[in-house]
Amino acid sequence: MRMSQFFLPTMKETPAEAQIVSHRLMLRAGMIRQTSAGIYAWLPLGWRVLQKISQIVREEQDAAGAQELLMPTIQSADLWRESGRYEAYGKEMLRITDRHEREMLYGPTNEEMITDIFKTFVKSYKDLPRNLYHIQWKFRDEIRPRFGVMRGREFLMKDNYSFDLDREGAELSYRKMFLAYLRTFARMGLKAIPMRADTGPIGGDLSHEFIILAETGESQVFCDKAWLDLDVLAEAPGYDSDLKDFFAKYTNIYAATEEMHDAAKAPADLVTARGIEVGHIFYFGTKYSAPMGAVVAGPDGSPVTVEMGSYGIGVSRLVAAIIEASHDEHGIIWPEPVAPFTVAIVNLKIDDADCARVSGDLYAKLQSAGVDVLLDDRDERPGAKFADMDLIGVPWQLTVGPRGLKTGVVELKRRATGEKRELSVEAALAELTARG
Ligand code: ATP
Ligand code: MG
Repeated sequence: MRMSQFFLPTMKETPAEAQIVSHRLMLRAGMIRQTSAGIYAWLPLGWRVLQKISQIVREEQDAAGAQELLMPTIQSADLWRESGRYEAYGKEMLRITDRHEREMLYGPTNEEMITDIFKTFVKSYKDLPRNLYHIQWKFRDEIRPRFGVMRGREFLMKDNYSFDLDREGAELSYRKMFLAYLRTFARMGLKAIPMRADTGPIGGDLSHEFIILAETGESQVFCDKAWLDLDVLAEAPGYDSDLKDFFAKYTNIYAATEEMHDAAKAPADLVTARGIEVGHIFYFGTKYSAPMGAVVAGPDGSPVTVEMGSYGIGVSRLVAAIIEASHDEHGIIWPEPVAPFTVAIVNLKIDDADCARVSGDLYAKLQSAGVDVLLDDRDERPGAKFADMDLIGVPWQLTVGPRGLKTGVVELKRRATGEKRELSVEAALAELTARG
């Protein structure tokens, strides 16, 4: 992308309405635009990050054996009457009436719809287990939408739903998702803490929230310090095993909500911190399958009500959560896997023929190597260019200036550490091509 043509409305001033750093930086970096309370348009820079995060979520779901589909945002009220949740859901549900006076709603979650789809097509235990997911916009009419996309009303969620013949199968599906979540967040540069949780309105008896630590988080966390230092995934087994040992070992590490906090059981090294909930998984048995009649023929021909679980990741909340976890006074510091661009080339003097040639050449070569690269070819002061690159958080920043080019060198800066190195154009190209 050429920055001179890129729709990137950055701002220097700190927006007064934003209370937390991620919200301020997302506005300043031109990532989002609020269109109504808790509802946002994703501008090109923000949209790129949202897509990167979605893709990591997708890849880890696929690896764990889930299959992607896409359900609509608008649902019929009748479907929710079948489970009994239409009345129960209350004011958080956005209710809509169509031109034929039919009651509709903008989905806050999809248990009812997926159960309906499942029961229409799956009739035999031979087709189990099944795990289906989608990445789709949700609407919850939050009483107090705040902190930008962190607590929005319309937000992007990955939600999936597992169907098994019995409790043992359902628990295996649960463990797979537990592991997939750890992998998903780790790939985004986040250390997620799994916390035993209440199941709340979704119901059921086994549930974990995944929390990442941040001072601005809305949840209080008590966690064994050992968890934070542990490289859990280094020992993680494959999805073909029953994962029991893994699960037993790592969920026993003390991590609990405030209500569940038992001082007697607390280890010496307890961290009390604030955190952001980025994921939540539930095993809830037959809560939806029983009232909605999701029944298959079991091995002996008798009808079996399927056992279900549901699993959510706040995809749009993650954009803000990652910024809360990774920024400094100059702006965002994107972990490379979710960065909107991996490399930025800063052409210091656009009217200098050498600078234009070298930066244009680097840009073309990196692009054809599959590197996400941004070329700053704007007619701006160097200071403004550097400030923008730091604000939008590009992990690798390559400065091409007339003075360096006299001796054939460019300067490579790593955003995360601020470390700068001079190297030849060829060496820079080789190093950055490897990041594609
Ligand atoms: P919270 O406790 O934060 O209100 P929740 O428990 O109601 O969330 P779930 O139903 O578990 O949310 O939804 C799955 C995930 O979707 C959450 O873990 C969170 O990351 C995300 N999420 C939920 N509500 C919002 C929201 N209003 N804005 C952005 N993301 C949200
Ligand atoms: Mg939750």
